[in-house]
Amino acid sequence: MGKHKEWRKFVKRERRRKIRTQKAKEREYIPFGDYEEWHKTQEAIEQFEIEQIEKANKIENEKWFKAEQESMEQWRELQTKNELLLQKKLQQQAKLKLEWEKEKEKRRLDEERLKEIEEENRKRQELFINNLEKFLSGDLVEPPKELLILYESKPNNPPCPFFTKTACCRFGDECSRNHIYPGISKILLATNMFGHFGLENANFNEYDTDIMLEYDDSDTYKDFRDFFFDILPEFEKFGKVVQLKVCNNYEKHLRGNTYIEYADLRNAVSAYRALHARWYGGKQLSLQFCQLASWKNAICGLQSSKRCPKGRTCNFLHVFKNPITLQLDDIQISERHKQYSRSWRWSESPDREISRKPMNQEIESKDRIKQKDRVRERDKNMDRETENNRARDRKSEKNKINDRNRHGDSSRRRRRYKD
Ligand SMILES: [Zn+2]
Ligand SMILES: [Zn+2]
Repeated sequence: MGKHKEWRKFVKRERRRKIRTQKAKEREYIPFGDYEEWHKTQEAIEQFEIEQIEKANKIENEKWFKAEQESMEQWRELQTKNELLLQKKLQQQAKLKLEWEKEKEKRRLDEERLKEIEEENRKRQELFINNLEKFLSGDLVEPPKELLILYESKPNNPPCPFFTKTACCRFGDECSRNHIYPGISKILLATNMFGHFGLENANFNEYDTDIMLEYDDSDTYKDFRDFFFDILPEFEKFGKVVQLKVCNNYEKHLRGNTYIEYADLRNAVSAYRALHARWYGGKQLSLQFCQLASWKNAICGLQSSKRCPKGRTCNFLHVFKNPITLQLDDIQISERHKQYSRSWRWSESPDREISRKPMNQEIESKDRIKQKDRVRERDKNMDRETENNRARDRKSEKNKINDRNRHGDSSRRRRRYKD
């Protein structure tokens, strides 16, 4: 009985196993072979898949590594480039700094040079004035030789033809040719002394042309006439004036230039001593001695016939026709001084605002109170100015007494200016 039970147990187990195997076979779709075979195949497949994955990983890794290296390389290149740019920038900055330093040094040297020149000029002028004083106060008929020393701007170069003929050159002493200045001479040149709206604004387009139309030549001439009779007595205080020429050129270096020729050298020196750096018509006078070979050479030959092709931009003198002929005798001069007795411009202060330019007229009429203030201010300036001149005037007083006696009226005017 026991054996039978065991047998049945075995059979049942075998049947369950068969059913399980069958079911497993059905579940895994294994058409052939047995499970061991299939298991082996599965393992091989798994192994293959793992290999594939590893291979793919390796490729990906390589790709990543390559990309990493490339980006590293790019970064390094960028760094190098930035480094170069920085260096270049620093070099540029250093260069600029160096240039700036050089410029600064150059300016410093220029300033020093300018100061030296100014000092030299000041000393020369001082010496010159001292010599003038000696000449004026002494009984010497002939001027001391120190006063006759010429000053040459470029002694080694050929003389400038314009300066030689007119005592003026558009380039000033920067001119490449030589400018020869006399020590003293009978002719005085007051540069830019005659200021006139019609001359000064001739080259500016910014001014309304209507304004210019109002200032035609006849107006300019009328003002010149006033100017002529205003300055002539003042210059005649120092002696007989044989020639007075006023330029109407538009060129800046000739504009309003006024030449005064005395019969006597000592008179020219007295006039220079008394009038140089004085104020007239709101401007400080700049007088210089000059030597002209002849008036004929200085004045443009084509001007009087109005045939000069350069017009008033000519480099030779174009001058106003004087309203009277000079070289009169003493009685005639004295008569003339009685006739024209105006000297308002001589007492005018350096205040430019009260000039007679039409541009200012409207403003001035609008605000008369301000104008009064300006006049008061002007008088104050005048006092200051006259104070400076007084000491100088006292020195040359002695020399003027003779002249004053001759021109009684004008000396009274001068006193009014001084008080
Ligand atoms: Zn020149
Ligand atoms: Zn000309």
